[in-house]
Amino acid sequence: MIGTPHHAIFQSLLQGRRFVLTTHMNPDGDAIGSEMGLARFLRSRGAEVRIVNQDPTPDTLHFLEADGFRAEVYDEAAHAAVFEEAERLVLLDNSAPDRFGRVQPRLLALAAKTFCIDHHPTRGTPWAETILDDTSCATAEIIYELVTRAGWHPDRAAAEALYVGISTDTGVFRFNSTTPRAHEIAAELLRLGVEPARTYQEIYERNSVSYTRLLGAALSSLRLDAGGAVASVRITRAMLQATEGDGIDTSEMTTALLAMDGVRVALLFRELPGGRIKVSLRSKGDLDVHRLASGFGGGGHRNASGIVLAGALDEVSERIIAEAKRPLGA
Ligand code: 5GP
Ligand code: MN
Repeated sequence: MIGTPHHAIFQSLLQGRRFVLTTHMNPDGDAIGSEMGLARFLRSRGAEVRIVNQDPTPDTLHFLEADGFRAEVYDEAAHAAVFEEAERLVLLDNSAPDRFGRVQPRLLALAAKTFCIDHHPTRGTPWAETILDDTSCATAEIIYELVTRAGWHPDRAAAEALYVGISTDTGVFRFNSTTPRAHEIAAELLRLGVEPARTYQEIYERNSVSYTRLLGAALSSLRLDAGGAVASVRITRAMLQATEGDGIDTSEMTTALLAMDGVRVALLFRELPGGRIKVSLRSKGDLDVHRLASGFGGGGHRNASGIVLAGALDEVSERIIAEAKRPLGA
């Protein structure tokens, strides 16, 4: 739950009239939902708002970009002046500088006017002001608290954007992060006109054929360690080429692994271009994958974390699996 100091920081954020909002690489539902929710609030107050991200909005989230609210893809030349002239830069759903990708140098140079609103446990960041609450299930929950305390009644589209943030980050209200407060806010958002079934369909029931073929290929690489407690799969460049799946977000494919009885940690290793590997880590219950991810320079939450590291698929997966087995005494 956010407190009075956070609302005070938000009031000082609102002193600006010209805003740039941005979020982490590979934006998810909470990233785009928080941006759209906050942008609609700011524009309702007459502020000028641009949303500029390192990566494009995934297809599944385009439905949130209505009424001229669109996230632009960061272009060094085109956006330099936009960032310079803004009075406030607002970072959403991520505090760690290295997860802003190509935007990072610009943000670091302008850190003195940069506000960060996030729910990831992160310390020692360079931003001027930070509204961070790691008890919130989503950044969208924090945005809801801030804008309603500021006296706003979110319009239907803003309510939907915030609902998308909360529902996606809680795994549609099933992760440990799902608090009574998350449900209370969701209830308010439904009263403001959100249609849960339609929203769910937009996000989760519009997968491409490529997605399902890639899921099949990934699952066929299943490996079990630690007596079945650690499940892992691999996505190679060849699989991505065969399914034309390069742009697909594969991290939720871990759901199928966690669904197996006895599995406590699910790992998905994906080959990225340029000899890097993306690891998506998920766990059940008390088992902490955030600690494991942090040890390799990644981050996230106790039950959902990610890492990007250099190396070959086999070598990286052996190293991470060995570490994942350790707390299990295997
Ligand atoms: P996913 O596996 O869905 O990409 O990421 C799960 C969670 O881990 C996300 O909530 C995100 O906050 C975090 N995460 C993913 N990749 C990285 C990374 O490379 N670095 C850090 N610090 N966090 C990550
Ligand atoms: Mn989030």
